[in-house]
Amino acid sequence: MAVIPDPTYDYSVALLVRAYKQSLLAISSELSRLDLTAISRANAKAALAEVAAILRGLNEESAGWVERYVPQAATDGIARAIVDLGAANTLEEAQKIAKFNRINREFVASAVADTQADLLAVTQNVDRRVKQAIRQVTADSMRANITRGINGQRTLNADLLQRMRQTLGSAVETGIVDSAMRRWRPEVYVEMVTRTKMNATHREATVNEAVGRGAYYARVSRHGATDRCREWEGRIVKLTPDAPGDYPFVGDISRRDLFHPQCRHTLSPVRDPKLLEQ
Ligand SMILES: [Zn+2]
Repeated sequence: MAVIPDPTYDYSVALLVRAYKQSLLAISSELSRLDLTAISRANAKAALAEVAAILRGLNEESAGWVERYVPQAATDGIARAIVDLGAANTLEEAQKIAKFNRINREFVASAVADTQADLLAVTQNVDRRVKQAIRQVTADSMRANITRGINGQRTLNADLLQRMRQTLGSAVETGIVDSAMRRWRPEVYVEMVTRTKMNATHREATVNEAVGRGAYYARVSRHGATDRCREWEGRIVKLTPDAPGDYPFVGDISRRDLFHPQCRHTLSPVRDPKLLEQ
């Protein structure tokens, strides 16, 4: 049987991460062009429009990325099932005959929608924070310019300027705050979330294809993991709880033990686990 290398989505994920980094850099440099000593409403409005355009472009690019690469991960997972179950000899051959069965069609559509929503949440959060920051520094600048006439100072207070720069800088630094209240830089969060989704999509598509072909078991891949997944490497799992035999059902395994975020473990479907054990 052909040995199938574990999928790596480094290249495709790096493309998306680069798009995020470039957009955030463009937003930062847009914000740094604001003349903090004298921001007018018109300046603020122009900066906001520029930032909105950058984020719109980023949303379009990431939507295109998701539509292209998430189904690709599913096709890879299906091809793996086809080879493992002996319906093709090579991965290339399997990729040619791989198509989405009914469960996978629905699954891929929801995986695409989920990933889009996760990425959109990142840009929406950046958008909200940048808007707040621009409003804040505009108000600071206007107030300072009114009081400057009263106390006779010619320039803006250095502390205030520093604070305004910080407000603008931190606006692009938090993409998302997760349920555990961890703050993620946008590009780091995007990398984590897409890598996790690509691997999960691959795995789920493998399971759907295997079950569709009447194979109800799979073996967990091994790559010498050092985290908690290592307990599961090479073990047989059931793909449906109703399958006979004393094997754990894959859906019952805690995400803390296997298939954690960014986990690269895959499933290789098998028809008869007894044959493997011998
Ligand atoms: Zn793992």
